Amino acid sequence: MTRISALVTSAPAGGISYKNIDLQVNNEAKAKLKPVYTGLCGTDRMMISGNLPFTYNPKGQDYIVIGHEAVCQVLDIEDNKFNIKSGDYVVPVVRRPGSCVNCRIGRPDNCSDADHDVIEAGVRGLNGFNSEYFYDFPQNLLKINDKTNILINVLTEPTKNVMKAFEIFDKVSERSIFTGSDSTYMQKNCVIIGTGSEAFLYAFMAKEYTMNVFMTNRHSMPEDKMKIIDGINASFFNYKNETMPDYIDLLIDTSGDPETIMRFIRKLNYNGVCILFGTNGAAPGTDYTGIDISYIVEHNIVIAGSVDGSKKHYLDAIKYLNKWKYMPGSAVKYLITGIFSPDETEIFMKKPIEEIKSVIKW
Ligand code: NAP
Ligand code: ZN
Repeated sequence: MTRISALVTSAPAGGISYKNIDLQVNNEAKAKLKPVYTGLCGTDRMMISGNLPFTYNPKGQDYIVIGHEAVCQVLDIEDNKFNIKSGDYVVPVVRRPGSCVNCRIGRPDNCSDADHDVIEAGVRGLNGFNSEYFYDFPQNLLKINDKTNILINVLTEPTKNVMKAFEIFDKVSERSIFTGSDSTYMQKNCVIIGTGSEAFLYAFMAKEYTMNVFMTNRHSMPEDKMKIIDGINASFFNYKNETMPDYIDLLIDTSGDPETIMRFIRKLNYNGVCILFGTNGAAPGTDYTGIDISYIVEHNIVIAGSVDGSKKHYLDAIKYLNKWKYMPGSAVKYLITGIFSPDETEIFMKKPIEEIKSVIKW
């Protein structure tokens, strides 16, 4: 059995170690992959601290390889049905479809029973991508055609979440005329709560729609983050002491904080859309009243949750990231705030203040 180094935890108990494990060879999985970069996110940190009860190890293992954001190089591939060859760069998908009707049509992101029907690499029942090598099925790989600045493509997985959320926005906003009287989104205000990696990717995408984009948090922004916000022509306000826009047409939450979300829902415009994306099971509750419910009803407000994304959202993510690589000022590259080696496991324990996206170089 080949031994490889990997970053592992034991789900759901937690902990982290960088150690040698047996390379799992699945004779059906025809692609041998070497991660080039993996991204680190809140889910990894919550697993390591033992705070994600729904996570579990693969069958027969007392550990799970962590990591679900990766860009990999193909070392070997037998099946060429997907036009992938050795040397290509690919992004592996996280969620693997189960047998429900949504999974069977390629939409495991909309799985009808996600607690039981799907498995997720690095999260539930399947090893993730933080290992020297791994095998996967070609149908789970999305090819990156633009091989320049491949580091940016480690953002594909978080960006696909944004693509899915905008698909929901597109569908919901069709029920009325959402665009302005000039047929564009240019007079529409999009507020994004939070200033982490997902929030920035939402801001990039809302700018693609030509909306006025406002990012917000409960404290001021350091200069390096302000540089990115300025670079995409968005704005920032500290909602604790700075005025917010008069109205919000599209509200996107990445904080998962009920009090903050309610504060902003009360500013949504007629036919406003609120996408709930952030999750924080430890956040305190908040009050809302009959007046809030009346406000939501009378304004035709839609509040929609959005989780994960499907293969088509990965493809959209690759397309937009390739575009953003060449954006004036290259704001997207500043989203990667630190590159670490796999043995620097402390990075999984504590989020650096300046972090937007920390990356492991394999
Ligand atoms: P992140 O870097 O931790 O971002 C969370 C952001 O929310 C941070 O900027 C944080 O600010 C901010 N925040 C927290 N409490 C706030 C409050 N009360 N008011 C304003 N801002 C607040 O995580 P991420 O990777 O970008 O992910 C964002 C969220 O989406 C996380 O909750 C994550 O679990 C969730 N997520 C959801 C999906 C999905 O499919 N729905 C997928 C991936 C991740 P500070 O850092 O300054 O505290
Ligand atoms: Zn399913």
